Amino acid sequence: MMDFNLKPVASQPDQNSEKHVKVLILGTGPAGLSAALYAARADLNPVVLTGMELGGQVSLTYTVENYPGFPDGVSGTEMVELFQRQAEKFGAVVEYDTAIKADLSRKPFRIETYNTVYLADTLIVTTGATPRHLEIPGERELTGRGVSYCATCDGWFFKGKEVIVVGGGDSAVEEAIFLTRYADSVTIVHRRDELRAGPILQERAFDNPKIKFIWDSVLTEIVGEDAVRSIRLQNLRSGAIQEMRTDGVFIFIGHTPNTQLFEGQLTMDAAGYIITDKLMRTNIRGVFAAGEAADPVYRQVVTSAGMGAAAAIQANHYLDEIAGETSPSNVALKRQ
Ligand code: NAP
Repeated sequence: MMDFNLKPVASQPDQNSEKHVKVLILGTGPAGLSAALYAARADLNPVVLTGMELGGQVSLTYTVENYPGFPDGVSGTEMVELFQRQAEKFGAVVEYDTAIKADLSRKPFRIETYNTVYLADTLIVTTGATPRHLEIPGERELTGRGVSYCATCDGWFFKGKEVIVVGGGDSAVEEAIFLTRYADSVTIVHRRDELRAGPILQERAFDNPKIKFIWDSVLTEIVGEDAVRSIRLQNLRSGAIQEMRTDGVFIFIGHTPNTQLFEGQLTMDAAGYIITDKLMRTNIRGVFAAGEAADPVYRQVVTSAGMGAAAAIQANHYLDEIAGETSPSNVALKRQ
């Protein structure tokens, strides 16, 4: 998960290290790296900033089975490596750096990172999203001590143990199935009595003897000191509260878009997703957005990649337009 919402550290970037780029892309998930590929092939020499993590959420996915061209599936990390390699082959430059300030009121746009100040003729925002938290007692304190948002990262620690998965969407069910590789028992706690996940995943989960379900229930507390020991659960129909022993709690209840850096500058919906038109244009001319930061609906690798490609194509058109507007003959025409 790319986190572009970290606060700046005390040190300031060296103002002498200003770099002027035609296309700056924030984020190296499928949207960012697809935008990079298209911008690179248009000879725009794009620079792509990784944010705090390379690859976005897909890099934490064990297997991607629904991206065309990979009939046997592909691991998330391998997919990101392939995307990156392909973009770099055509000249994209991936920088391990994070944007901490953005001024979109001036042109070129001014993006400050920990190391550099970028002056960008166009900006493509593909900052992705971060897993949502339950915001219950014990969650924050026990994160990394049994509370996790990534089965691929942490599943191994739960060999032979019992874990809880919270959520009923594709992520929760997919990750629950993955966790059965390690854990003896995986219990999905869902707040309703039917899953939101797609039918194939549902079928696999229902057929898996290690997976159990607790319906119509929410966690009210995660209990433990150095490690997770139990959870408190409330049944939403009866109101009854029970305590249940567990070794780990994996939370998959959706995401929050990483768009705080642009609050007050880019138009967003109530949940913080950047609003674009069909051409991936934001409210600021020259700034485009793609992938999960701008997509509360599909949020698939394939749709994000498509949005990223579209954003880069439009960024190229925009650069052609402004070159035309500022060409000496056009400036002379306008003066007449
Ligand atoms: P999601 O589809 O938004 O599902 C979130 C789940 O968490 C829902 O079941 C929701 O319950 C539950 N939830 C939300 N807030 C909660 C709370 N405060 N307490 C308890 N439960 C809560 O999110 P997702 O599963 O991360 O999927 C995100 C997108 O990625 C989706 O479009 C999904 O299709 C896609 N995705 C696809 C795949 C795949 O195709 N293999 C894999 C992963 C993700 P309700 O159902 O009651 O709302």
